[in-house]
Amino acid sequence: MEYKIVVLGGGGVGKSALTIQFIMKKFVSEYDPTIEDQYRMQTTIDDKTCYLDILDTAGQEEFSAMQDQYILSGDGFLLVYAVDSKPSFDEIRKLRDRILTVKEKDKVPIVICANKRDLSMNYHHVSSQEGRDMAKSFGCPLLETSAKERFNVVEAFHTLVREIRKEKEPIEKPKKRCIFF
Ligand code: GDP
Ligand code: MG
Repeated sequence: MEYKIVVLGGGGVGKSALTIQFIMKKFVSEYDPTIEDQYRMQTTIDDKTCYLDILDTAGQEEFSAMQDQYILSGDGFLLVYAVDSKPSFDEIRKLRDRILTVKEKDKVPIVICANKRDLSMNYHHVSSQEGRDMAKSFGCPLLETSAKERFNVVEAFHTLVREIRKEKEPIEKPKKRCIFF
């Protein structure tokens, strides 16, 4: 099974830091913001082996043909904002709208990352509650992450794979049987 994951979000929110922390288990504090990378790895999630194809995007322009191309190719999306940036939080809603429009669906596997949770509280401009409310309105999971401290990083990617699996392999509802005696 291969899953194509696209990491999207505003500039500087930690898309590259999260991706590199997940794959290489290290924190890069300086990473060229214009570089877009694609990684491929084999891993085991919930006892099932799979290939992850992860695209760490870097495009700054919204609504570009390029962005639509990523969206079309992705099975699931990690939408990242940074808790110290309200504009990056507001961008999540726009990205999600665009994903649904481009995919022509009303539900797409998405996990939101509220990144940089390690920052001291004075720097937090988006509350945990605001994050949770947005995730609830989308009906998707949200994880508070820190690429710096490797907190919830693996969990975020694995949760997204589970969301993709739910969509790809819907669990059959148990058939109701009526037994008469
Ligand atoms: P991108 O533009 O979304 O790819 O963002 P980067 O991964 O390049 O990160 C932008 C900046 O935020 C860099 O200076 C990183 O060191 C910093 N950064 C990324 N993730 C975290 C985090 O979890 N905590 C803190 N404190 N800084 C982070
Ligand atoms: Mg980057």
